[in-house]
Amino acid sequence: MKKVLVLEDETSIRSFVVINLKRAGYEPIEAGTGAEAFEQLKAHPDIKVALLDIMLPDTDGFEVCRRMRAADSKIGIIMLTARTQEMDKVTGLMTGADDYVTKPFSPAELTARVDALYRRMGGADSDDKGELVQGPFRLNTRNRTLEKNGQRIKLTQVEYSIIKLFMDNPGKALSREDIMNSVWGRNYFGELKIVDVNIRRMRLKIEDDPQNPNYITTVWGYGYKWGL
Ligand code: CA
Repeated sequence: MKKVLVLEDETSIRSFVVINLKRAGYEPIEAGTGAEAFEQLKAHPDIKVALLDIMLPDTDGFEVCRRMRAADSKIGIIMLTARTQEMDKVTGLMTGADDYVTKPFSPAELTARVDALYRRMGGADSDDKGELVQGPFRLNTRNRTLEKNGQRIKLTQVEYSIIKLFMDNPGKALSREDIMNSVWGRNYFGELKIVDVNIRRMRLKIEDDPQNPNYITTVWGYGYKWGL
């Protein structure tokens, strides 16, 4: 079964999420506090996707996200944000989340996001050549790992998919829509901003000077380009 951790303290919202995940073929694992979430993760190490509410009785979802990400760079994390808190989205992504949904969300929207993340967990790519080497970067497409000058750079699943897209298209300007369609899928409901926030986070990890990026450059009014 495909397990999804649901961390949400409001029982009505949690039941709504759980029912819809079950309908979509997932096995929801429930938690109402940050502490419970970490207990559930320990008890179910095969959880691959987590849904995190932000306002929690014992902590907040950003802190949970940071701790989960520190322990496991591969787990998929979706923040459940409130419509009024626009900044939550960016904060959540910068602390390591892959995606967010805004409350109130429809069952279709929620399961589309979970499906998209699960698809990316799917393991090796079909066009697997083993590795891509460009400049100081070595991307291992079997283990889905990246090294820069021999040093491992921890990537989330989304970041891996973006870097793979870049390394498959060196020197080519990619529009934000191209990146979103390729990485999140054509049925994705989200906003293009998620591309920008992921790029900002990736620059912190891979650029020598994130303020003056050399590898992921901005193509103004269009998107981004990978160049060495
Ligand atoms: Ca809450």
